[in-house]
Amino acid sequence: MNYVLDPAPVHSLAIAGSDERFPVNRIFCVGRNYAAHAREMGGDPTREAPFFFTKPADALVPTGSTIAYPSMTSDLHHEIELVVALGGGGREVSRAEAPALVFGYAVGLDLTRRDLQNEAKKAGRPWDMAKGFDQSAPLAPITPVADTGWLSAGAISLTVNGALKQKGDLADMVWDVAEVIADLSRYVALAPGDLIYTGTPEGVGAVVKGDRLHGRIDGLQDLEIVIG
Ligand code: MN
Repeated sequence: MNYVLDPAPVHSLAIAGSDERFPVNRIFCVGRNYAAHAREMGGDPTREAPFFFTKPADALVPTGSTIAYPSMTSDLHHEIELVVALGGGGREVSRAEAPALVFGYAVGLDLTRRDLQNEAKKAGRPWDMAKGFDQSAPLAPITPVADTGWLSAGAISLTVNGALKQKGDLADMVWDVAEVIADLSRYVALAPGDLIYTGTPEGVGAVVKGDRLHGRIDGLQDLEIVIG
């Protein structure tokens, strides 16, 4: 094949305990999937079905990176999240079929330009520039599901400069991983290589230059990022 430009590189993630890499296709994200966070954002978790947005695959940043404070915001927020990596795909996947699609799990940050998101919400505009900007998707290596088993509970937390900012449990997700996969597959045909950020617990807040972010989920590799 002759292209007029060099094709974009394949974006990929490290896999814990392996020297093979996970090639990333698309990045989907769930909004408001923990009740306390939905409330802190002004929502009502008892009535809202899951909703989705996306980030481009080139927004990925590996753990250990220093990332530039992004342009066009003065209110960059952290959202620590469980990320599901899909090894299989399909459309209209049932809850019962969903676990077979999971390749593994990782700790991720859904970095958000909260000021732009708030403006977009007010104006009824898309969230893309609030959520899908450069370096907006820091992600730790993937741990295969063969090593973790099905994740339905476990502590999830984020510290900034050593101070605890977010703390929750995967068991508190409004929609569990199987329900998220099943629901998303009604909107798009899921494919191997897709990632799903599954939402953040309460305690989101702003970060500034020089901050060190440290995300943890029981049983997975830690995520460490510096805002430079
Ligand atoms: Mn999020």
